[in-house]
Amino acid sequence: MIYTITLNPTIDRLLYLGGKLTKEKNNRLDRIAYDLGGKGHHGSYAMSKLGVENQALGFCGTTNKRKLEKILEEKGINHDLVEVYGKPTRESYVLLEKDVSGSILITEKGYAVSNYDKSLLFDKIEEKVEAEDTVLIAGSMPPGFEIEDLEKLINLLNKIGCFIACDLSGEALKAAVKAGINFIKPNRFEILEIAEQGRSLLDTVKELTKTIDYVIVSQGGAGSLCGHKNEFYQITPPVVVVKNDTGAGDCFVGSFLASLTQQKTFAEALTMATACSASKVQHDDSTTFSVKDAQNLQEKVILEKL
Ligand code: ATP
Ligand code: MG
Ligand code: MG
Repeated sequence: MIYTITLNPTIDRLLYLGGKLTKEKNNRLDRIAYDLGGKGHHGSYAMSKLGVENQALGFCGTTNKRKLEKILEEKGINHDLVEVYGKPTRESYVLLEKDVSGSILITEKGYAVSNYDKSLLFDKIEEKVEAEDTVLIAGSMPPGFEIEDLEKLINLLNKIGCFIACDLSGEALKAAVKAGINFIKPNRFEILEIAEQGRSLLDTVKELTKTIDYVIVSQGGAGSLCGHKNEFYQITPPVVVVKNDTGAGDCFVGSFLASLTQQKTFAEALTMATACSASKVQHDDSTTFSVKDAQNLQEKVILEKL
């Protein structure tokens, strides 16, 4: 079983503008859509779409619980969330201008979780997760969830003995690497937090793979530099027309972990994840990709052994 943990979930409110965002003008919307914003939820979506059983864990505010659950249900995501009473799950605003690639993201910090909320989550994890499972911890931490809590969570998972994947950034990424985990996928900015200054990217990946089973540094449209044991690759995705690259990394992580649990080789999991995320960037929301397109794109992914 794969579990994803989204500590700071968010509901994305996609605002499709009728033109370019302009100051001192009424910027009228063509339409509004809702999508999942939490990184663990994005990972779960990719796994579910690839037919790999998983469950989304984490927190969920009670005042707009139905809204988040409705999106999770519509997207076919099995979930078991810890309710944070009297608080709303945050909403993020994704501004999409007409005929302009990329998006503008505006986020809220999220509600604060209490010691009680955290203890409920830890109890649930302890009760569910087993040694043969995979756990993905992804996204930011809400106010009230400190680095020590993350360390406690990773220590608990290490005690259980499951495979621990992290898609974290900044201090959280640093702490996770120190606590001992099995998978990271920092992007080109996030890797700078844990790289020794002056060291090449390949040497950084080589150094990190001494303690982390799978290290993937994603580089947007330029692909990724990947290491596992003594196997290193530079992966280049096919050239595609980009509509929105938000969530490309989450799609990559979800589909990579899904492939690993399907006993695919490292190289196969990498080309599949690269193909799924290359399909994702051609869609304008943060999650959608086509498995069929990905299967075709996979043949065009360039895998260079280093
Ligand atoms: P996220 O918004 O999910 O956090 P990220 O910044 O972590 O994304 P990126 O490095 O942007 O992750 O992208 C992850 C992977 O998605 C890349 O390694 C690549 O395989 C694929 N990808 C991203 N952008 C493009 C693109 N323009 N064309 C093709 N593939 C892309
Ligand atoms: Mg990116
Ligand atoms: Mg990312």
